[in-house]
Amino acid sequence: MTMQQRINRHDALYKLLTNLPGADLGVAPECAETDPEVFFPEPGRVDLARQAIEICERCPVRDACLELAVRDGEWGIWGGMTEGRRRKIRAERRLASQDQEAA
Ligand code: SF4
Repeated sequence: MTMQQRINRHDALYKLLTNLPGADLGVAPECAETDPEVFFPEPGRVDLARQAIEICERCPVRDACLELAVRDGEWGIWGGMTEGRRRKIRAERRLASQDQEAA
C-alpha cells in the first residue's frame, strides 16, 4: 500500500468514525491528527504500533472503532488492536457461533 493510499484510508477512518450514530466526539479522534504511518505501520515497527495503541486507549469511540474493524477486517491499528488480535477475536466469535448452532 502506498503512503497516499494509507492517507486516504486514514481520512476514510476519520470520516467514518465522526459519522457514527451517537458519536458526539466534541474533538476529532487523535488518530485523525497523527501521522498515518503510526496507525498503518510497516511490518516490524512495533514502536509505532504501540504509539497507536496508546492513542486508542484514550479515544472516546474506541469500542465502536474496534467493532467496525473486527467486522470489516481492516488493516492497521484500529480500536487499540493490531490485525492479529482482531483476527483472533473473529476466530473466537466464529467458534462461539458454531457452538451455539451445534447446541
Ligand atoms: S480507537 Fe484509535 S483508531 Fe479508532 S478512532 Fe479512536 S484513536 Fe482512531
